Amino acid sequence: MRYISTRGQAPALGFSDAVATGLAPDGGLFLPEQLPDLSGLLPRFESLAYPELCFEFLKVFATDLPADTLRDLVLRSYTRFDHPDIAPLRALGPGTHVLELFHGPTLAFKDFALQLLGNLYAHQCRVRNETINVLGATSGDTGAAAIHGLLGQPGTAIFILYPDGRVSPLQERQMTCTGAENVFALAVDGTFDDAQAALKELFGDQDFRTRHRLSAVNSINLARILAQCVYYLHAWLRLPAPERGNVEFVVPTGNFGNVLAGWMLQKMGVPIRSFRVATNQNDILYRLFTTGEYRIGEVHPSLAPSMDIQVASNFERFIHFAVGRDPTRVRSVMETFRRTGRYVFEGFDRDTFTASRTTDAEIPGIIQRVYRDYGYVCDPHTACAFKEVGVGPAEPGRVQIVLATASPAKFPETIQAAIGLEPTAPSLESLKSKPIVKHRLRADPAAIREFIEQHGVSPGV
Ligand SMILES: *Cc1c(COP(=O)(O)O)cnc(C)c1O
Repeated sequence: MRYISTRGQAPALGFSDAVATGLAPDGGLFLPEQLPDLSGLLPRFESLAYPELCFEFLKVFATDLPADTLRDLVLRSYTRFDHPDIAPLRALGPGTHVLELFHGPTLAFKDFALQLLGNLYAHQCRVRNETINVLGATSGDTGAAAIHGLLGQPGTAIFILYPDGRVSPLQERQMTCTGAENVFALAVDGTFDDAQAALKELFGDQDFRTRHRLSAVNSINLARILAQCVYYLHAWLRLPAPERGNVEFVVPTGNFGNVLAGWMLQKMGVPIRSFRVATNQNDILYRLFTTGEYRIGEVHPSLAPSMDIQVASNFERFIHFAVGRDPTRVRSVMETFRRTGRYVFEGFDRDTFTASRTTDAEIPGIIQRVYRDYGYVCDPHTACAFKEVGVGPAEPGRVQIVLATASPAKFPETIQAAIGLEPTAPSLESLKSKPIVKHRLRADPAAIREFIEQHGVSPGV
């Protein structure tokens, strides 16, 4: 299978090259040239355990990797989850389920993709006898998940910039207490945006980038989207057959990567009824799905920080399909959006998507209600998804699956304030006794460049 850019001005690549490249050279995002029809495979998928299902699914896409290699990489990617089902589906009440995506090493759903991506990168280094320096800026979850995907992987080093004092103490511990020699947590003075701007400048230096084989951590890698399709499929297969066609997934959403994966699975012939896009107070996608207008706004930091985004970077993949897979039209939409900060869509699929928006003022009340009604403790991101679940009369026959994207133990202050309990997790507790190793740097491209020159991996080392 080949992968093309949404903007149509880059050569098509095989799976491994598309994964290694990340962002296509024309600025677009990679997508399969044609979406496969999976409906014929569903009976075979039926009773597979999560890792085997993931392998069988990815086999359709990673056609340039030998099957036994792929199987080995996939199985290894799900060994560090602390629940035997990997992504357990729990029934809360009639027609209401929660899909727990926080049993990976950093207790948030990003582990599903980044454990796999770490193994894919390391494999590539091995077979091509190369090294890779992975670089990213984070406001919390992504950096931690990327670090735990790469820690200890031979041939790789990872540098994660985060705003000093502005990520939660637990998130900081997840990044700084790994004890791994190839992990560099860089606490920069400044905001997340300052860190991001410094990185952007470094990535713009083609010579530096090639010399150190720099690769970016971001939410647009093709492998991330494909890995995320699998938990939708796994959950769908866990429902009794008569319910499957009536399922609505309710998805806490920021960059649109998570919900996009579910939607692509539907387009591949898995009969899912609908998706509910749940934003926090940073509501660009809520406004889009209720008015048709995609308009950039300001970011207001919230209690659900991993959804504090201004522009949903994965949305371009959705646009590509919404304009009939015509790259000329994608370029024109993106250009209009870049120039004016807005774009008005006409006539897209309103049956498939609905949306909700949750303000910070509402989050504690939702956590309380979910705890009272179901005895279930949800984190602030998942609370946004619960906003309209279990309130008002149930629609007959409908089944809702709420995606729980982070463990409540990652946000103890918010949970404590809402319901008076402090959730904990063993992996977080054990971090508290480990030394923090971080490097303080100015949010300045020259300082970061020097650091990478000193600490990066290079071939033969
Ligand atoms: C990243 C993240 C999200 C948002 O996911 P997108 O793919 O950006 O929509 C939601 N919840 C948590 C806990 C996250 O870490």
